[in-house]
Amino acid sequence: MKRLHNFSAGPATLPLSVLQKAAEELVDYRNRGASLLEMSHRGPEYTEINQQATDRLKKLTGAGDDWEILFLQGGASTQFLTVPQNFLTKDKTADYIDTGTWSAKAIKEAKHFGNVHIPYSSKESNYSRVPTNSDLKLSDNPVYTHFTSNNTIFGTQFRKEPESNGTPLVCDASSDFLSRPLDLDKYGLIYAGAQKNLGPAGVTVVMIKQSFLEQQKKEAIPTMLDYRTHVRKLFNTPPVFAVYMVNLVLDWIEAKGGLNWFETFNRDKANLLYSEIDKDDFYRGTVEKESRSHMNVTYRLPNEELEKKFITEAAQNGLDALKGHRSVGGIRASIYNACKVDSVKALVSFMDEFRNNNG
Ligand SMILES: *Cc1c(COP(=O)(O)O)cnc(C)c1O
Repeated sequence: MKRLHNFSAGPATLPLSVLQKAAEELVDYRNRGASLLEMSHRGPEYTEINQQATDRLKKLTGAGDDWEILFLQGGASTQFLTVPQNFLTKDKTADYIDTGTWSAKAIKEAKHFGNVHIPYSSKESNYSRVPTNSDLKLSDNPVYTHFTSNNTIFGTQFRKEPESNGTPLVCDASSDFLSRPLDLDKYGLIYAGAQKNLGPAGVTVVMIKQSFLEQQKKEAIPTMLDYRTHVRKLFNTPPVFAVYMVNLVLDWIEAKGGLNWFETFNRDKANLLYSEIDKDDFYRGTVEKESRSHMNVTYRLPNEELEKKFITEAAQNGLDALKGHRSVGGIRASIYNACKVDSVKALVSFMDEFRNNNG
C-alpha cells in the first residue's frame, strides 16, 4: 500500500504503526475471542485501557495527582458550553481571548451563562496574529481566562501561555495538544478533541485541576454536563474504541521521546515549510511571522487560479488535503505530530518545482 502524504486538518493522519496495531487487534482482541468493539466498558480490557491512557497522559504532561483526566464525547464544541456551564454565572465574568473561529464559537456559548470580557481580538485583521502579553486588556477578577492555543483555520499559535496574572487558564488545545510541553501550573482546565493531534474522532480529552474544580458554581448543573459526574466514576459508556486508539498514540508519543522531542520535531518541520514560503514572494504566508503555527501552515499563491492548479497537481503527486479553509482560502498544510518529515520534504520540493514552472 502506498500511503498518501496526508496534510488533512482533521481528522488527521495517524502513525502507521498505530493503525497496524489496531488492525491486528481489531477482530480478536488479545486472544479473547471477541473484538474490543464488542466488550463491556466495565470489563477488565477497557478498564486497563482507560487507566493506561490516564497514566500516560499524566506522565507525558507532568500532571500530578491534583489533576483529573476525562475522556468525553461531544467534541471540543461541547466543551465550549460545558466550561461556562460549570464555572460561569450571571454575576461573574470570564475572559476570552478571541484569535479565530473556534475562539468566537467558545465566546458565543459562554455568553449564555454569564459575562464575557474580551481582552484581545484579532478579528479586524482576519485573525492574522495572536496577542503578546502587553496586548491583553484583562478584566479585574475573571473566573478564568480562555484561549485557543493553536488556531487551526488561520494558522496562528501562541508560542507560550498568555500571562493571566494568576487567573486559571482554560485552553482549547484541540489542534496542538501534546505537540510540545505545557506549563501546567498556569492552567485550570485543558480540553482537546482527539482528531487533530491525538487519535481518531469521537473522544475529547479534558484535563481539570482539582483546585479549579472546587471553584465550580453552586447552582444545579445537568448531570452529563457536570464535570464531577465524570470525575466520580465512569458514569456512562465512554467512546471505547477512540480511547483505545488514543492510548496507542500516547504509547507512540512516549516511545518517540515525549513532548520535548515533539516540540523540536514539529518546529523543525514547520521551519522547512516557512523557509520555502519566505524564499521570495511567489508564496505568501497569511499570518504575522511571530504568530506562525507549527501545526497548520497557511499560505497563498499569486492568484486563485494558481492555487487551484497547485492543489490539483499536488494531489496528483500524492500530496493530499492541502486546500485552505474557505474563510482564509489558499493553502493549508497541517503537520501534526504524526506527519512525517518526509511528507514535509516532499511538499517543499513540490513547492519549489511548482514555483519554477509557474513563477
Ligand atoms: C477542530 C477544532 C474544534 C472543533 O472540534 P470538534 O471536535 O469538531 O467539536 C474546536 N477547536 C479547535 C481549535 C479545533 O481545531
